[in-house]
Amino acid sequence: MKIDVLTLFPAMFAGPLDESIVKRARSAGLLDLQIHNLRDWTQDRHKTVDDRPFGGGPGMLLKVEPLFAAVESLRRKKTRVILLSPAGRKFNQSVARELAVQDDLLLVCGSYEGFDERVRVALADDDLSIGDYVLTNGALPAMVIVDAVVRLLPGVLGDDASSHDESFSHGLLEYPQYTRPAEFRGMKVPEVLLSGNHAEIEKWRREQARLRTEKQRPDILK
Ligand code: SAM
Repeated sequence: MKIDVLTLFPAMFAGPLDESIVKRARSAGLLDLQIHNLRDWTQDRHKTVDDRPFGGGPGMLLKVEPLFAAVESLRRKKTRVILLSPAGRKFNQSVARELAVQDDLLLVCGSYEGFDERVRVALADDDLSIGDYVLTNGALPAMVIVDAVVRLLPGVLGDDASSHDESFSHGLLEYPQYTRPAEFRGMKVPEVLLSGNHAEIEKWRREQARLRTEKQRPDILK
């Protein structure tokens, strides 16, 4: 998979995307990830990327010219262009799965007060929000999306089954899990998990996943 990210803050990406699973995917050649600086598509001496909104109001908007130039030069035939915006469609595990089967993504990070509406209308295939809160810029949302999508690519996780059997994959949260020791500070691991009876363990896990989802996230059961 190829993912390009367009941002004003490329340095924010060093670290999170150079560690762990994303690092492994990159080294294994399963992910080609490139971070681009929007300022590289400006034409003036000061590399200006923002301007005042028509009609007044606080803050600045990203200028259309560098955004159009950057997206038009980075996107290829099959690229899905995604704007990051708190006003976008809510990103979740099923959207992550939808993106994981694409060949090519371009994530466009906003800054300041965000995008001129013409960018959304003319350039974007989709706009995504990572949650109902406002962050300073799109770098963190882009990293969240890259991480959630990349771990779904075949061959990226040590065991591909890990991403089939976790929270949200069956419309439920994950069941409680335990590791050794079987008793710690008086807290015991449920007997059934020590029984070796796989059918009973499976039944217990399904039931616990349902109970936990009912309690913590009844919205996803609907
Ligand atoms: N004025 C915008 C609004 O009220 O919707 C908020 C702009 S925000 C300060 C700057 C940029 O951060 C956005 O253009 C977007 O790229 C990114 N951003 C902030 N919160 C986000 C979220 N929850 N999901 C996705 N992107 C977000």
